[in-house]
Amino acid sequence: MAVEETNKFSIEFYPPRTAEGEAKLDVVHEQLALLSPDFFSVTYGAGGSTKKGTQQIVLRYAALGSNVAPHLSFGGTDDEEVKALLATYREAGINRLVALRGDLPSGAAIHHRFASELVEFIRSETGDHFHIDVACYPETHPDSNSYESDVDYFKQKVDAGANSAITQYFYNADAYFRFVDYCQGKGIDIPIVPGVMPITNYENLSRFSNNCGAEIPRWLCNRLECFGSDKDSLRDFGIEIVTELCDALLDGGAPGLHFYSMNLSGSVTKIWNNLSLSDR
Ligand code: FAD
Repeated sequence: MAVEETNKFSIEFYPPRTAEGEAKLDVVHEQLALLSPDFFSVTYGAGGSTKKGTQQIVLRYAALGSNVAPHLSFGGTDDEEVKALLATYREAGINRLVALRGDLPSGAAIHHRFASELVEFIRSETGDHFHIDVACYPETHPDSNSYESDVDYFKQKVDAGANSAITQYFYNADAYFRFVDYCQGKGIDIPIVPGVMPITNYENLSRFSNNCGAEIPRWLCNRLECFGSDKDSLRDFGIEIVTELCDALLDGGAPGLHFYSMNLSGSVTKIWNNLSLSDR
């Protein structure tokens, strides 16, 4: 049966592409496991490009005793492959998934299948076995025509059987609270957990944010630019800002936090400890 309670504090990894990256992630996993997160999640590369890598990391950390939620999308994969993955995860005792449309590799001519279709597929294949998380966007998905239609499509995922949602990251708590109110007004009643991106590298963050439609407020861009090559000071400032953001989110009633770790343990650990999340 699905795990029905909401898991509150979780940490995301992506599958490394090299043996060296994997060895580093094993150390990061070990360090972050000491925080006792409710679960780790592992992303699924654009168009299913990390299918094997995702599966390997998920099964390895699950075997080490971690609660792990694989991300999954149709991507260019056929239904049989998705069925096989679901069976593998089920046999390994995995009971949580993050279901996505997924990003497509650039230039790929793959037919998009929306995340709501995947949620329906998982429910039809495996009933209530998996707790299904889906993605949502307080600052609106970049392909979306409007705020309203984006939330309508989010509701389709909930109606198809999603149990909870994780947001795209943001640095403006009001965007989250307004979004949650709006979703509730539309009849969406599942927990909406903020996705949190620690700030460790301004260039990378800027690039991701442009791609995924997450806004870095102007004042924050200006402050981050001032650090130039002083990466330690930037990271310390990032920890302060993101701790304050998380504090405001939890004070305002957010049901948990999901950290995009970028396979690094330092900032997540500091923010986690600043907020005493292991004791909450
Ligand atoms: P959907 O919910 O399908 O929505 C995609 C777009 O289509 C939206 O603009 C939506 O408004 C619109 N839409 C939805 N349904 C319909 C419809 N029926 N008709 C018309 N328009 C519709 N990407 C990866 O590749 N791998 C990952 O592991 C991954 N993990 C993520 C985890 C989280 C928590 C988040 C927030 C994002 C993640 N992403 C990942 C990125 C995500 O795949 C992209 O944002 C992708 O572009 C949309 O995925 P989705 O599941 O939200 O899509």
